[in-house]
Amino acid sequence: MKRRALITGITGQDGAYLAEFLLAKDYEVHGMVRRSSTENFERIEHLHHLLALHQADLLDQLSLINLLQEVRPREVYNLAAQSFIPTSFQQPLLTGEFTALGVTRVLEAIRLVDAEIRFFQATSSEVFGNAREEPQNEQTYFRPRSPYGASKAYGHWIAVNYRESYRIFACSGIMFNHESPLRGKEFVTRKTTDAVARIKLGLQTELTLGNLDAMRDWGFAGDYVRAAWLMLQQDAPDDYVIATGEKHSVREMLDIAFGHAGLNWQEHVRIDPKLLRPADVNTLRGDARKAREILGWRPTVAFPELIRTMVDADLERVRKEAGDRG
Ligand code: NAP
Repeated sequence: MKRRALITGITGQDGAYLAEFLLAKDYEVHGMVRRSSTENFERIEHLHHLLALHQADLLDQLSLINLLQEVRPREVYNLAAQSFIPTSFQQPLLTGEFTALGVTRVLEAIRLVDAEIRFFQATSSEVFGNAREEPQNEQTYFRPRSPYGASKAYGHWIAVNYRESYRIFACSGIMFNHESPLRGKEFVTRKTTDAVARIKLGLQTELTLGNLDAMRDWGFAGDYVRAAWLMLQQDAPDDYVIATGEKHSVREMLDIAFGHAGLNWQEHVRIDPKLLRPADVNTLRGDARKAREILGWRPTVAFPELIRTMVDADLERVRKEAGDRG
């Protein structure tokens, strides 16, 4: 019989990569989607016919219980969240409801319906915030600097708590930034690669950004969903940092992205102080030694290659969209 998995957040970047990964492993893949007035299945369009999609919402406890009763999955990947940091400053309560309490709601549904379900929680390196040490590992103290980071810290600890209190097979993957051509367009890497394509094709002249000095540990989303799956295949549940171990600045990212299209970013990038965050995280770099040793996990895509692939994908898409418009 096929193994059955449920993905919350299947319409997001990671949801799309994980669905594809699990289908290739011959899983029966179910996805949770929230109701909206128009469907937003763009990222999973090519897989749609292979997936079973169900409506439920992280805000609605009963919908989660009914969903688990209907699907009866062996594995649940909780990828759904309000995942954009600037929005978390504007909508801190809603972010807490989705990104923090939403985790408890999924765990409560598991506890009630089937406590044998294996659970993955998508934690973020933003929990480290102004970290006191570098690189950050599973023992590093959490000092989040945004409502998003604080909500993810809650999500991490509640997953640990259900593991310790109810013996639920709950794993938290403390994932550093990961990108792809499917990354949301408001995130700095994709915002940049989309702008590069539009500037190159004469559809835009300027890109406005906030903090160019921020440094992040950026990997490829496809590698990170593989790590999530590996965590749920172990004999015992645990928490793992998933990271490349390298950090790069936004400036370096601009060099690579604009340079790949034969452009000079200094001629196009404008700093808008409105885009600076009330509190920012200057630098993050992860130590994924534990994942390497126990899961055998390694990132496969280097940073320059990742950014260039994103630029190429955006050039192709923007060119096609412009062509379609005639
Ligand atoms: P994403 O593209 O923003 O996707 C978020 C998903 O959550 C979307 O499918 C969204 O549905 C869904 N969602 C939001 N609120 C919901 C609700 N109330 N009920 C049901 N579904 C809801 O995020 P991502 O980049 O794929 O990231 C996946 C997870 O990993 C997130 O939890 C994120 O915080 C975490 N994470 C990401 C990174 C990264 O660098 N990408 C790093 C660390 C951790 P709609 O399509 O309907 O909006």
